[in-house]
Amino acid sequence: MASEPRHTPAMRQYHRFKEQHPGCVLFFRMGDFYEMFHDDAQLAHKVLGVALTQRTEGVPMAGVPYHAVENYLRRMIEAGHRVAVCDQVEDAAQAKGVVERDVTRVVTPGTLTDEALLDEGRENPLAAIAFLGEQEVALAWAELSTGDFQLARLDADAARDELARLGATELLYCETATGDVPPRVAALAAATGCAMTARPAWQMRADEAAEVLRRQFGVAHLAGFGFDDDDPALAPAGAIVHYLLETQATRRAFDNPDAPATADPKSEIRNPKSLPHLRPPRRFTRSAHLVIDQTSLRSLEVERTLRSGNIEGSLLGVFRGCMTAMGKRRLRQWLCYPLSEREAIERRQRVVEALVGDSRFLDELRAALDGVQDVQRIAGRLAVRRALPRDLVALGRSAGQVGAVEHLLAERPSVVGYHERAAKLVEALDKLAGRIGEACVDDPPAHLRDGGLIRDGYDAELDESRGLQQDSHAWLARYQKQLAEATGISPLKVGYNRVFGYYIELTATNRAKAPADWTRKQTLKNAERYITAELKDYEQKVLSAETRGVAREQALFAGLCELARQQSEALHAFGELVAELDVLACFARRAVRGRYVKPAVVDEPVLDVRGGRHPVLDEMLGDRFVPNDVALGTEAAEGTGGASLALITGPNMAGKSTYIRQAALITLLAHTGSFVPADAATVGLCDRIFTRIGAADELHTGQSTFMVEMTETANICHHATERSLVILDEIGRGTSTLDGLALAWALAEQLAAQRPRCLFATHYHELTALAERLPGIVNLNVTVREWQDQIVFLHRIVPGAADRSYGIHVAKLAGLPASVVARADELLSQLAVSHEQAPPPPSPPTVAGEADNGEAHKQRQREQMSLFTEYVPHPVVEELRGIDINSLTPLQAFDALRRLRERVEGMGKVAGKVAGEAV
Ligand code: ADP
Repeated sequence: MASEPRHTPAMRQYHRFKEQHPGCVLFFRMGDFYEMFHDDAQLAHKVLGVALTQRTEGVPMAGVPYHAVENYLRRMIEAGHRVAVCDQVEDAAQAKGVVERDVTRVVTPGTLTDEALLDEGRENPLAAIAFLGEQEVALAWAELSTGDFQLARLDADAARDELARLGATELLYCETATGDVPPRVAALAAATGCAMTARPAWQMRADEAAEVLRRQFGVAHLAGFGFDDDDPALAPAGAIVHYLLETQATRRAFDNPDAPATADPKSEIRNPKSLPHLRPPRRFTRSAHLVIDQTSLRSLEVERTLRSGNIEGSLLGVFRGCMTAMGKRRLRQWLCYPLSEREAIERRQRVVEALVGDSRFLDELRAALDGVQDVQRIAGRLAVRRALPRDLVALGRSAGQVGAVEHLLAERPSVVGYHERAAKLVEALDKLAGRIGEACVDDPPAHLRDGGLIRDGYDAELDESRGLQQDSHAWLARYQKQLAEATGISPLKVGYNRVFGYYIELTATNRAKAPADWTRKQTLKNAERYITAELKDYEQKVLSAETRGVAREQALFAGLCELARQQSEALHAFGELVAELDVLACFARRAVRGRYVKPAVVDEPVLDVRGGRHPVLDEMLGDRFVPNDVALGTEAAEGTGGASLALITGPNMAGKSTYIRQAALITLLAHTGSFVPADAATVGLCDRIFTRIGAADELHTGQSTFMVEMTETANICHHATERSLVILDEIGRGTSTLDGLALAWALAEQLAAQRPRCLFATHYHELTALAERLPGIVNLNVTVREWQDQIVFLHRIVPGAADRSYGIHVAKLAGLPASVVARADELLSQLAVSHEQAPPPPSPPTVAGEADNGEAHKQRQREQMSLFTEYVPHPVVEELRGIDINSLTPLQAFDALRRLRERVEGMGKVAGKVAGEAV
């Protein structure tokens, strides 16, 4: 270590901070750079691509310019690192010896507030988890940039789903004695992609949590927030407060003008009043929302597409057009957390309806929202004292929009609630906007250090110092003329530079003529520079005027920030109002553009959609998209007989997945208050949407595709209720044909009994026999026309079972080499022949039926079916078998007979209806 410059005072500081912030990359401010040393420098070189140098031999060093630090911070965070930013906390010019430094903030994925580090369209929650036993967890999460804070007690298996739908970026957990990450935490982090951060065990204790929460919110007990002080679920909420205080409430950099004006900068370390914008925790109730688990969120492509991970092509992508960042975030939230109460849904629908029916109102509302900046995040930055001049100006301008919004909402019954909320804010926000507007220029500087934020004429003291600086040019010209006349020297120049200050310059040839009372200051190649007492005086005056001017501006800025902080409640409320109105306007615009209708939301477990469209494909394909009906749980719809489960068969590429996803997306949208892409829709309230759709990207979890498929299916069996919607695509594909068929069959039986609304797309034609055997199941298929040895997909869903799978046709379409297609045809014919001669093969090929004539195909299908149905007991037969004849009275025997007869008739009714309408 001999070569290490531990002995220099600055490096001693460096090592001290490095030790205080284990696990962090240390950005150490030196002059105009943030420097990194040792491993941090190597890392910066790798992650940021900055050059590696050596300050002292053997000590790698890398630096980033301080004015671009946010950009480098963002890249460090994106690469999954934490950064402690060490700033100078005193004026370097005033420093005696080494300038004092301190860590002014710790930047971690879940504690970002700076605009440059955040995605405006997404929240950035910090989450914490505590395990309350094997089956239960407590989860808390906070959004530092807006102050939102929630906590929940959940079943252990719901934690992953909720973390995913939150979009949490960092997860705090209780450290272990060994320092290892507990497997449950590691699994959560792997599934959700959050960064993991271990916290000391004492910070995860419920009693400590209650204490820190009471202190933070200045209350004697937590009952007012709806919590018992000994509620174990508080533990992670406490850990969050500790962590936020630690990362945020540190010292302020010397050049941060909004630093509190305390004489002793040390006095504000761990200021108990830090995080004033953090709101008291709210309890999150899962049942207040339609539950969408992580799998369904992904496979329905709510936020991003499965394939590319882009917003474009997802449901969120269809609803572009929010005017504000707050609206964008709220839209994502509303799509991920649909409502479960009819009244709340209808409240949103009423506003959308009013906007759809009045295009002028819609246009004007959008125009009024257009000028509103991200008020909530700006208020958050003000709270953690990281606001910039442009934040303040944007805040003032946005707050000034409240009047326009209020005016627009007035006297419209559909938005009376929103009008009341706006009206309450007008006075306070108008006043704030006025104060900021009269003080600040319209186009603020990026930083305050050079001044220029405050308008001329606003503050006499500032005007005076600015006047002095501006006058200096005239003064210098006058002084130069006066000197030239007095001394008769020509040329003679009076000038200024940053390093040497003011000077009088003579050419080298005139050097001898300089008066004796001039002091020589600097010798150049061809010139000599001097200073006089008078010029020195003037320099002092101007420089101190400049310093005073900047200081004055900083004080005024800090005062305005304080004024804005005092309105943080109103600003937050305004942000909420704007976010909601923005999303409602976005819903309305989509409804108008996409010809959406208002769905009737009902309590009965039905789904009845006429002319339904898939929102994404509808937008992409326009008129080429073929609308389809869906009818589950409703007698009113023809061809379904009130069935709750529809089996959809048809060749690949026909549109089965599209159809079942479309049903799920329409259901989801109906629960958000949005209109839906259909001609008419009645949607019964759901508790949950389940999906089992083969996804391509399951490999990273290390589980086999089939295992994932079965885990998800098990989840559905355990949790689907009569109020759920289940969509299943190609269940059983991941295993052998017979296994898969058997599983799919059993699952269909189970779901028919459990009675969620269920759409079951399958290529197992054998399953279509179920509709005749069980009530509540109906067959649908996707129509295909054969034309000159080609097939044409009509994408139209009709009642009845498909008769062929057309697998080889589709393979041909997909560009499989002609030789392979021909060989497949040949094999198929052979199989067909052997099939006719021999007993059923052990594993019937699912692509059967391509090459032979229709009769042979039907024959084989019957055999395949019997292969299955022979061994699968019929439910009525099973029941018959279960009757103990000896213990029945004649009357009971008659009853049993009648019940069995009714069951058989019930099945006949559904099957008959379907058969009658099949095309
Ligand atoms: P399957 O699940 O039956 O294999 P998909 O649902 O994946 O078929 O549909 C295949 C393609 O057919 C889709 O990518 C889409 O382009 C088109 N398609 C599906 N449904 C429709 C429809 N209703 N109208 C128009 N095109 C459709």
